[in-house]
Amino acid sequence: MDFRIPEELQALRASFAAFVDREVRPIDESMTEEYWSGTPDHGRLHDAAEQVRRRAAQEGFYACYLPEDVGGWGVSTLGTALLVEDAARCGVRLAMMAVAPPNPSGPSTLLLQLPEHLQDVYLRPVVRGEASMCFALTEPEAGSDAQAIRTRARRDGDSWVIDGHKHYITNGDKADFAVVFAVTDPEKRAAGGITAFVVPRDQFRAGKTQWTLADTHPSELFLDGARVPADHVIGEVGLGFFAAMSFLNAGRAYIGAQCLGLAEFALDAAVAHARSRTAFGRPLSRNQGVAFPLAESKVEIEAMRWLTYHLAWAVDEGENPMLDASIVKYYDTERAYAVADRCLQVFGGMGLLREGPVERVLRHLRMLRIVEGASEVQQLVISRAMGL
Ligand SMILES: Cc1cc2nc3c(=O)[nH]c(=O)nc-3n(C[C@H](O)[C@H](O)[C@H](O)COP(=O)(O)OP(=O)(O)OC[C@H]3O[C@@H](n4cnc5c(N)ncnc54)[C@H](O)[C@@H]3O)c2cc1C
Repeated sequence: MDFRIPEELQALRASFAAFVDREVRPIDESMTEEYWSGTPDHGRLHDAAEQVRRRAAQEGFYACYLPEDVGGWGVSTLGTALLVEDAARCGVRLAMMAVAPPNPSGPSTLLLQLPEHLQDVYLRPVVRGEASMCFALTEPEAGSDAQAIRTRARRDGDSWVIDGHKHYITNGDKADFAVVFAVTDPEKRAAGGITAFVVPRDQFRAGKTQWTLADTHPSELFLDGARVPADHVIGEVGLGFFAAMSFLNAGRAYIGAQCLGLAEFALDAAVAHARSRTAFGRPLSRNQGVAFPLAESKVEIEAMRWLTYHLAWAVDEGENPMLDASIVKYYDTERAYAVADRCLQVFGGMGLLREGPVERVLRHLRMLRIVEGASEVQQLVISRAMGL
């Protein structure tokens, strides 16, 4: 076993950090009033995020994990996870838009299964940062139990016709196209009866925006007789559920890296505050009631780090480690939230302010305990793997 980060990945991290400082930080700082405002201008926030996405795509960081023949750099899962961690840790909010995973608006590896001519239409524009997509699986009646989706696709000559109602779809209101999961064989469902399609914008419409406590606001998505040519199937007919699950599993390392980076950021901020803020004539850090929860946080962060790096390494080794992926999703989201909550406490009243560093981290981590498979669903997977 060699736990050292390879030199080429350290160099990649350094050039990404320089890019964030040079290109992203100034845009982010120009948005400070919006972040602190109780009623932010979401249009301006979106435009700033888009600006970062385009610059990161031009520089190559945005889709670095994709193969070179579609415009990526072929960076490993471990290398990409390190960039995600750094983006989350640096405290520049918009830095998380500079590397696509785990944001579903970025280029999905699922699109590599499209025929070559459709990769030009759908995948490459997203890699270049000129277009965005969404991943449309969840429905009002099917969230954790995703194989219960009702969206139906029927073959009609050389086309598929899709009818259904999705919700909680990140970037559903802005996406240029959607990856849509629909039932093609109701008897088989998850076992060969769900298919993934790429559906252009003019074939679906976004419903209402669903405002959340985090800074991500998904939307409803309606497919009313959406028609796509037969070659718009992603992979094979009937294998869409497997594709969705293996895509989500492979992405767990990026969720883990995001949690790790955010927890590190919160802890760095809390340690600095505990050392500089005085109460009762001495720094807060001189109280064990403050220092010990921060020490506990450090321990949990190191456990998150090695679980996450190990998962990324396993994916790079060609494994599909479903159990490890669930362990990372469960442990990292739960522990990072606990770390952020302790760190917020150290800031006292300032912890609750939008101006404080930890408030938005806590809100974001609260969301991550639910999206892409809530904690209980991960416990279900883990307990089943234990034979329970
Ligand atoms: C901000 C946001 C962004 C999202 N983005 C996307 C997206 O881009 N694309 C997409 O397809 N989906 C997206 N989702 C959907 C998300 O993945 C689902 O919300 C999540 O999987 C949970 O499904 P649900 O909300 O229907 O909860 P439910 O399935 O109704 O579950 C409710 C609660 O019951 C628990 N529960 C369910 N079954 C069990 C069980 N067997 N044992 C114990 N507990 C159980 C769950 O853990 C959860 O806590 C997004 C959601 C949000 C909030």
